[in-house]
Amino acid sequence: MSEDTIFGKIIRREIPADIVYEDDLCLAFRDVAPQAPVHILVIPKQPIANLLEATAEHQALLGHLLLTVKAIAAQEGLAEGYRTVINTGPAGGQTVYHLHIHLLGGRSLAWPPG
Ligand code: 5GP
Repeated sequence: MSEDTIFGKIIRREIPADIVYEDDLCLAFRDVAPQAPVHILVIPKQPIANLLEATAEHQALLGHLLLTVKAIAAQEGLAEGYRTVINTGPAGGQTVYHLHIHLLGGRSLAWPPG
């Protein structure tokens, strides 16, 4: 279990967010500091800190998050493609310790990332 984070507060509606999708298992909202024309975070409602904490018990949930990303990308009109990113731990650049998938699109994205 992760500590409570800013994303926990968004799930509980204690702070506002531009929510684009919600179901029983996950929530998706626009990043407050977008790095592309479309920058959405898809998070589980269950507070898993990151992939280091994920186990086989989370297999179906992790699959659900990816298929949710796909559905939101279609909803956002990203037919040309998009990027998904999961920053994990300090070396991975993670700043919020509640698992999240970044969905970035609407511009050409270079590789490798910084
Ligand atoms: P990380 O660096 O952990 O992969 O990504 C955390 C992301 O959360 C960052 O892109 C950051 O802009 C976003 N973020 C941090 N605080 C908030 C917030 O209060 N609201 C929203 N919508 N996004 C946030």
